[in-house]
Amino acid sequence: MSKLYLIKEGEISLKGGNRNLFEKQLRHNIKNKIRPYHSDITKQKGRLYARIAEDAPDELIDKALSTTPGITGFARAYQAEKTVDSIIGKAKEILPSSDFADGESFRVTVKREDKSFELDSHEMSCELADAVFSLFPDMTVDLKHPQHTLTCEIRNEVYLYTSEKKGEGGLPYATAGKGMLLLSGGIDSPVAGYMMAKRGMKLDAIYFHAYPYTSELALDKVKQLASIIAPYLGGLRLFVVPFTDGQLHIRDNGYEEEATLMFRASMMKTAERIAKENGGQAIVTGEALSQVASQTLDAMSFTDSMTELLVLRPLVGMDKEEIIDTARKIGSYETSILPYEDCCVVFSPKHPVTRPVKEVAKRHFEELGMGNLIDEAVKNTVVYSFDPMGREINEN
Ligand code: ATP
Ligand code: MG
Repeated sequence: MSKLYLIKEGEISLKGGNRNLFEKQLRHNIKNKIRPYHSDITKQKGRLYARIAEDAPDELIDKALSTTPGITGFARAYQAEKTVDSIIGKAKEILPSSDFADGESFRVTVKREDKSFELDSHEMSCELADAVFSLFPDMTVDLKHPQHTLTCEIRNEVYLYTSEKKGEGGLPYATAGKGMLLLSGGIDSPVAGYMMAKRGMKLDAIYFHAYPYTSELALDKVKQLASIIAPYLGGLRLFVVPFTDGQLHIRDNGYEEEATLMFRASMMKTAERIAKENGGQAIVTGEALSQVASQTLDAMSFTDSMTELLVLRPLVGMDKEEIIDTARKIGSYETSILPYEDCCVVFSPKHPVTRPVKEVAKRHFEELGMGNLIDEAVKNTVVYSFDPMGREINEN
């Protein structure tokens, strides 16, 4: 036995020749998320129909579908025979366990694609409204702002559903290349990853850890953030780079006011190495213009020059309030504000340069001779993996 879900695609339906590829990836992404439960997904005219094993918990399916980019809406749906009696019978069967309730408002929406069906949309709507009243005599009709909607689609098959849930929209991850997300414990970078995944990017993440200057708790927090964003990204690997020696070297040998810049340059070099080894084409950061000293145009242009890879900063034009709203929506905010310091804070200079001259900063970076320290850090990198539902996968 299986249960049926109707899934609506958003932007994918605007795709021309590539549409099949996007749809195929979306189906794959959904199936992967619902695993180990079996699902069978077919498509029909801009819709996907997922038949999912009966024993898959509803909450798991809801979480899977509501976090998968490429889906704009979904609903548990029920099929009926293509006759008026059968449709009404099915409505009466599903309404008692729906969220319809006396005292609340509803509307019926009938989409009649099969014009040969014996009643027109209006007539069928009236029949279904009568069915609702027979079960909930104290409900009222509200066509504009109903609390509940009963939808009946009459196509080749007939589908009925009551509570359509919203999806993420965007495009399926793994349709737009691969990136490496610089994930810190802050508010911004999880949001940056979420935004790129929604544009179709597949992401791995990298975190620079400076133990014991940053505690094990700071690492736990980043792992927790990785797990929170994993459903939107379709799972991810988190590369944890031990960078204490690198930080100390910069502190002891560089110019104090350039410490953050030198660290950021090292992050770019290291992220590029690990990204390239893993098929990554871009680096993604949570920077926003002028948010802090290292996020000026001069500073960002310097860090860009440290890598051949494209550096994407999806938050660049957003203000903090907008970023926080998104962080709350995806559920990362409460974790991000836990008080464990990240390594930037511990090694931050009191008076950081905000307008570095690129050539000078580049020379200073070269003089620091970070090569061996970066080699060592890459060699000692530890990888954690999270599946598409955010569960940590134990590779051992
Ligand atoms: P966030 O809230 O994401 O921590 P932030 O406002 O604190 O950002 P910075 O500390 O300057 O700003 O970091 C800017 C970006 O650099 C982060 O969004 C993240 O992408 C990356 N970053 C900073 N620290 C680390 C780190 N320890 N490991 C990996 N990436 C980092
Ligand atoms: Mg930070």
